[in-house]
Amino acid sequence: MTTDQDGIKARIKNISSTLPEGVELAAVSKFHSPDAVRAAYDAGQRIFCESRAAELAMKAAQLPDDIQWHFIGHLQSNKIKLVVPYAHTIQSIDSEKLLRAIDAEASRTGRHINVLLQVHVAAEESKYGLTPRELTELAERTLGSLTNVTVTGIMGMATNTDSEQRINADFEAIRSLFHNLKAGIMAGNPDFRVLSMGMSHDYHLAIAHGSTMVRIGTSIFGEREY
Ligand SMILES: *Cc1c(COP(=O)(O)O)cnc(C)c1O
Repeated sequence: MTTDQDGIKARIKNISSTLPEGVELAAVSKFHSPDAVRAAYDAGQRIFCESRAAELAMKAAQLPDDIQWHFIGHLQSNKIKLVVPYAHTIQSIDSEKLLRAIDAEASRTGRHINVLLQVHVAAEESKYGLTPRELTELAERTLGSLTNVTVTGIMGMATNTDSEQRINADFEAIRSLFHNLKAGIMAGNPDFRVLSMGMSHDYHLAIAHGSTMVRIGTSIFGEREY
């Protein structure tokens, strides 16, 4: 299948122009070709998200250096080495063990990486992430003890449902956690500023709840072929 380069460029420009100031667009390019990423890049897009380690490494090696690669999938310990050389931000920190292992690998290889702690509030059992309490405890336990990693915010997903009420409640729970951290243990820390929430079908609601970064795949690149 050939890549619809013009369509991708048009959708990047269209979505970017409608985002309010202070909301960044992270284009979710997982399962799409390097050509698709290139089309979005040519339209001015610089932040791209991947969910598989090998795919991120493969694309990063062949695409321009000024792309900010974000990792958003569940990261297994044995894949850390593939991601650390390329990642600007790892958005999917769901355990202390993973966070400390990334810090150690970044330190060993002289890299610096931003991370977001992933919160789980959605109804689905299968989604990864920490409960708000676990996330807060992890932030407390690791505060000041990481050398090559900066915790720049949190990432979350709403329940995959048609119920706007449920989606709004989930985004509100994520926003409230972010706010409590900012006013609490992260107070006075200017690095802690990213509230990553909102996907293709719910990003308007996420923005209404204070999202500073929306992660959009399907509405830019079309359906994924798994
Ligand atoms: C795939 C994915 C997205 C993008 O979803 P779309 O519905 O295609 O916009 C956003 N966030 C995470 C964590 C994802 O895994």
